[in-house]
Amino acid sequence: MSAPLNYYLTELSTLPSIGKRREKFYKKLVGERVIDLLWHLPNQLSYRIFANHVEDVTENTLVTLEATVELHQPNLRKRSPYRIWLRDSKNNQFELLFFNAYQQFLQRVAPEGKKIALSGQLKCERTYNQTRYYMSHPDFMGSVAEIQNWIGPERIYGLTAGLTRSMVASTIDQVLKSAKELPEWINDCQYPPFLESLKKVHLPKDYEDLSFTNLSRQRLIFDEFLAYHLGMILSNRRPKQEGVQENLYTPKLANQLESLLPFSLTEAQKKAITELRTDMQSGRQMIRLLQSDVGSGKTLVAVMAALDVVDQQMQAAILVPTEILARQHAAKISKLLEPLEIEVALLTGREKGKTRDQILETIRSGKASVVIGTHALIENSVIFENLGLVVIDEQHRFGVEQRLALSQKSKTAHILSMTATPIPRTLVLANHGDMDVSILNEKPLGRKIIQTKVISADRLQEVVEQLKLVMSKGKQVYWVCPLIEESEKSDFAAAVARFEMLKQIFGDQVELMHGKMKGPEKDAAMQRFINGEATLLVSTTVIEVGVDVPQATVIVIEHAQRFGLAQLHQLRGRVGRNDMQSFCLLLYGQLLSFQSRRRLEVMRDCHDGFKIAEEDLRLRGGGEIIGTKQSGVPKFRLCDLVQEDPNDGKLLEDLFDKAHKMATEILKNDPTLSSPHGLAVRQLLILHEYDNTELLRKSG
Ligand code: ADP
Ligand code: MG
Repeated sequence: MSAPLNYYLTELSTLPSIGKRREKFYKKLVGERVIDLLWHLPNQLSYRIFANHVEDVTENTLVTLEATVELHQPNLRKRSPYRIWLRDSKNNQFELLFFNAYQQFLQRVAPEGKKIALSGQLKCERTYNQTRYYMSHPDFMGSVAEIQNWIGPERIYGLTAGLTRSMVASTIDQVLKSAKELPEWINDCQYPPFLESLKKVHLPKDYEDLSFTNLSRQRLIFDEFLAYHLGMILSNRRPKQEGVQENLYTPKLANQLESLLPFSLTEAQKKAITELRTDMQSGRQMIRLLQSDVGSGKTLVAVMAALDVVDQQMQAAILVPTEILARQHAAKISKLLEPLEIEVALLTGREKGKTRDQILETIRSGKASVVIGTHALIENSVIFENLGLVVIDEQHRFGVEQRLALSQKSKTAHILSMTATPIPRTLVLANHGDMDVSILNEKPLGRKIIQTKVISADRLQEVVEQLKLVMSKGKQVYWVCPLIEESEKSDFAAAVARFEMLKQIFGDQVELMHGKMKGPEKDAAMQRFINGEATLLVSTTVIEVGVDVPQATVIVIEHAQRFGLAQLHQLRGRVGRNDMQSFCLLLYGQLLSFQSRRRLEVMRDCHDGFKIAEEDLRLRGGGEIIGTKQSGVPKFRLCDLVQEDPNDGKLLEDLFDKAHKMATEILKNDPTLSSPHGLAVRQLLILHEYDNTELLRKSG
């Protein structure tokens, strides 16, 4: 590691101006290393103006003044301020106020009778016959000779309790002086060098310098994108394949299944299956994302791909986020594959003891060809005989580590991730890096648009009357109760209360399902709904993903304004799964903000998941779009992909693409990063903490 790099990695606590005492504040604000502090960029600018006298000053500006000290007036009580009286060049009197003053210091810097310079925010209080000027805690105070340093633009840093702006600024300046330039890691660099860019960004001259059009700032963002893409490619890198051989198998089982289906595949499904096959026949590992709107039939595509590997005496694993979904998939897929005599196994946290051992054995021996399960599949005790394909359903519900863990069970297994959460393009790239993407842009034939209504909660009685009518015709209904303030307890309480109420009206036709129920209870409830014994299912959002009961045609969502749009779209996707007209009723509480109303209207008018996602992004800055936490959308420190001003969005998107291209090229020319340029690139990876041993080991 080079010496200049070491300085950037030094712990902040070793700097004299920080030390053990302020370490924790800096840690909270920026992190632990010198480079973390340097990446703490100013986010605003203010100007310090020179004023000849106090009457010249407009309120709330930062001002630098010359004045003569007239009198020190120490405070008598602890809580009152220490005052210094001054006179400006026009003989106007004004005061400086200090709380918890350090008297000796003040007397040294501002002795009575001396002309001094000071800078800070001047306040003024006007009464009908008098104006009082005062300044509390000036930012600077000292000799007249310093005045020039206190005039002009001044950067503003985000702060945290315990740190002042001048502390942070002077520590940054000090660090910038000690740091040395690093070797260039950008190919054909059109930007100023790294350290020079940091220096420029920390000393903005005007607002333009703070914006993304400023090349120095752009460079730092580009660096971060580049590091990110390199990290993604390195961690997703397919195993080295010498003399890659094509594997031109003929799909027998899948064709057989297709001929047994009561419907024909949509064109989009056919296209996706062809794309998957091309990957799997190439002799290389497939890493592909299958994206579609809800209800487009992804499961079937995954099953076809699974059959292709089963054809070759290998196993397929399907990972799903919830117990309910695992059971549903297992039931449907076993039924589908029964005529083909293919054994399907189910493994969730609920299978225990002997049963679990038996299931593990069918997986280990290869007897189970298709294995469906929840997180339980990731555990070490689950060993496959010959895993050929990993399907990750609703992949945005899993963390990167979980996705990796499953694919680690076989170094060569193909990976198919699936999501029904439409993600804008930039985020796809951000989230999935190097993946190939297939899209199902078509729903099965005959699906009707789900009629969506926005209704005030005080019309609950009318809604119930409507349901009576619908249910008397044998149609089934979901009734969703929302999360209340993140507390699971009240979440389930709301569902229970609603269940009790509806039971008074509909009796045994009503079922209840929530996250606090025991597994078998949930199954029983779900099963009664699937069989049609229960026609109304009151539930929490446990039904959100994947649940597929085609004969359900109405969904009521209470307090709809509390959900994210993407989530509402997912919930709504539980109905409209056959050729009957379906309905979605969005109930809202009395107090609806303008924005909430707008969001519900988007749901009413729009049925395209991608558009809804974009609208969500626009209306509320994306936080809810996929639940950033779950989605794994990366957080960048030098810019925020999701929150940025839309005007900067395009620019960032271009930078992001450009960085992706460059990362690919760098690794193509120097896969092990061992050339001199490669070593510089490694320094970038280290700065951005993409240098975990796994990565570097894989890369060389
Ligand atoms: P999603 O894409 O949301 O995961 P599913 O795979 O759950 O969708 O499919 C939704 C429903 O559509 C299921 O009941 C499935 O059996 C049915 N389906 C899938 N493909 C077709 C098709 N080509 N024609 C008619 N129905 C289909
Ligand atoms: Mg699905």
